[in-house]
Amino acid sequence: MNQLKELFQKNREWAAAIVKEQPDFFEQLSQQQAPEYLWIGCSDARVPASEILGLMPGELFVHRNVANVVVHTDFNCLSVIQFAVEVLKVKHVIVCGHYGCGGVKAAVLDEKHGLIDSWLQHIKDVQNKHTGFLCELENENRLHNYMCELNVIEQMTNVCRTNTILDAWKRGQPLSVHGWIYGLNDGLLRNLSECFSRPEDVQPNHQTAVTEIKKRVSASVQKDRAARETGNQANELEKLNNDDSSSEQNSQP
Ligand code: ZN
Repeated sequence: MNQLKELFQKNREWAAAIVKEQPDFFEQLSQQQAPEYLWIGCSDARVPASEILGLMPGELFVHRNVANVVVHTDFNCLSVIQFAVEVLKVKHVIVCGHYGCGGVKAAVLDEKHGLIDSWLQHIKDVQNKHTGFLCELENENRLHNYMCELNVIEQMTNVCRTNTILDAWKRGQPLSVHGWIYGLNDGLLRNLSECFSRPEDVQPNHQTAVTEIKKRVSASVQKDRAARETGNQANELEKLNNDDSSSEQNSQP
């Protein structure tokens, strides 16, 4: 008995709608796969790669894992990158994180969930690397979201350190690596860095992207401090006013 028959029904409706629009769509799709883009994103169900880019199936080659991490010992991810670059000859590799990422949050807050903790240690490594300026942030949500951004920068840099990408650049294959972040609350993508299109781009563009985030972290810290001081002054003023009124009350017979 098919317990998920509603999903099969939805699938039939989806296929029929596409055929109605373009009768030879599936025939064409089955004969070729020539995507220009490799997407490395988070497994989060709220970030469906081709939908948010408005692309059709076949236009995007996709790899997803928890918190869009690129690790040099992950043969799954490395194989996807190798196949995409060397066989499909994609022109762009996009590492896309998202604000509010549960994987990044678990790492930042040191939440324990079992096996996945080891995977998320890679995010913790990113946090430790940038702890010099991140440690000034007191607001947990801000820390979480800046970490989502920094994670993208570090993972796109990891992509550029793979032999597949370095070899492609060496033989002159046109290939750019991009770092983007997606907002769950507005559905919009934001670019976090100049793309990396040559080995010489990696270090300076990485540095520039991190410096940009560092500046925004610093502005957030200043803003929080100013708000706290204003709050403290308001409290002191209120306390003084209360003291005055209570002494006036006390002076009454
Ligand atoms: Zn996520």
